[in-house]
Amino acid sequence: MNSEMIAQTLRVNREPYGGGNIFEELDILIEEILPGVVCPRCQVPSMKEQDNGGWFCEQCHTFDGSAHIDSLVEYCLLIDQYISIDQTQWFLQLDTPSNAYQILESLYLEITETEKGRMYDLKPLMKDEYFAMKDFKKEVGKLF
Ligand SMILES: [Zn+2]
Repeated sequence: MNSEMIAQTLRVNREPYGGGNIFEELDILIEEILPGVVCPRCQVPSMKEQDNGGWFCEQCHTFDGSAHIDSLVEYCLLIDQYISIDQTQWFLQLDTPSNAYQILESLYLEITETEKGRMYDLKPLMKDEYFAMKDFKKEVGKLF
């Protein structure tokens, strides 16, 4: 599946968490979203998955073990509550679908079989505890 096709299915079937329509409010197109895992330090989608797990920024050499979760939360807020393996591979800019499968399986998300194939429910990543942990990480990050 190429990224144009993915953008097309996202536009048609989009179901963002909470049902908001951020795209129309901000007047941006799904095609304008840059896929890729965003570096917590330089704030650009420049992180690459490491063979042994975790993410490494090629620009500032920051390592982050859970940067993909931030990206999936962003996906859930902006694009859709549900994500397929193909969409995950595209959005996280992974080398193979099996990398995407492994990441999704590691998060223990609920799976729904639909006519579009297997979809993973990202909603559990939106929990308050998750955001508390993220704020905590941000505070800790300031100390270094
Ligand atoms: Zn960076």
